[in-house]
Amino acid sequence: MVAGLLPERRIFLQQAIALIAAGSFPPIAAAQSGVLPSFRHLPGKGAAANRVFLHPDCLLHLAGADHPERPARLHAVHAALADGLGGSGTVTLPRPATLDELLSCHSRDYVDLVRKEIRDGAQTLSTGDTRLSSGSWAAALAAAGTVTTAVDAVLTGNSRTAFCAVRPPGHHASRDKGMGFCIFNNIALGARHAQRKHGIARVLIVDWDVHHGNGTQDIFWKDGSVLFFDIHQENWYPHTGAASEQGEGKALGLIINRSFAKGAGRSEILGAFRDTLIPAAERFRPELVMISAGFDSRTGDPLGGFALSDADYAELTDLVLGIADRHAGGRVISVLEGGYNLAGLASAVAVHVGRLAAAR
Ligand SMILES: [Zn+2]
Repeated sequence: MVAGLLPERRIFLQQAIALIAAGSFPPIAAAQSGVLPSFRHLPGKGAAANRVFLHPDCLLHLAGADHPERPARLHAVHAALADGLGGSGTVTLPRPATLDELLSCHSRDYVDLVRKEIRDGAQTLSTGDTRLSSGSWAAALAAAGTVTTAVDAVLTGNSRTAFCAVRPPGHHASRDKGMGFCIFNNIALGARHAQRKHGIARVLIVDWDVHHGNGTQDIFWKDGSVLFFDIHQENWYPHTGAASEQGEGKALGLIINRSFAKGAGRSEILGAFRDTLIPAAERFRPELVMISAGFDSRTGDPLGGFALSDADYAELTDLVLGIADRHAGGRVISVLEGGYNLAGLASAVAVHVGRLAAAR
């Protein structure tokens, strides 16, 4: 089954299969058959508390040996979860995204451009600072499809929460423009999938990556069905996300940006979650909660200046789980964004996924 693959991909796939074999791994039959039960079906007997979704094709995107967004990130995450999953979680192999799914958030011209540039051997995406390799198309489809697969699992009751271990990241990708290491906006595609396939009306996206999720903001700027809450470092890439950026039309007030100076940590960021996010969620009443889980907001990250600790991520996770419990039947789908200190990324993900798996 794994013969003929690149060595790195083969090892990862073998590890994934071993993890699946070690867990209970009920196939997502409903999603695979295209028959999707009502989203109101909550996790019942036999459902996992949390599932980790990963696809080996996410390793095929190679940005260069010196680039911080590299396959080793996923190996670090995978190793941390393999140690810490215990009996509380299961690992699921997702399916790649379809063209129809990509077009729910991106223009046809942009999707065609990405495919052409990768096929032509471009080193960098012409729309922004995202490096490319021959495997980037497969990786981008795998990353996006991982999130839509997780959405199916959570909204059909196969899992209460989900963590999507994906790369390339997605939150800087807007409708027509990939940038900031991102190609397609994985979390936005997941939110749209929840709405189109499962009838979810309102989705909350919480973005705690150190960088502003400009792509997610752009996609839902006038939408009105998504509440987007983003904390990020001020005067930092991509230099958007001022508090005055609040959305337009039906979405006015549903884009919420809080920026903090370099060095900010627990008091500022947990304070913003308590003082701003929780009241906003109370008004919005999300039916599904998603997290753009960037761990470059952790202390020691080479691309960020925040000071969050692993214990802080546990608390942030619990706050988001509390919102989901109150409004969304406990449903939380977390999607990996940044995080470039490999040891820090691994330990923060282990704590975060541990909290997702412990949710009741
Ligand atoms: Zn980031």
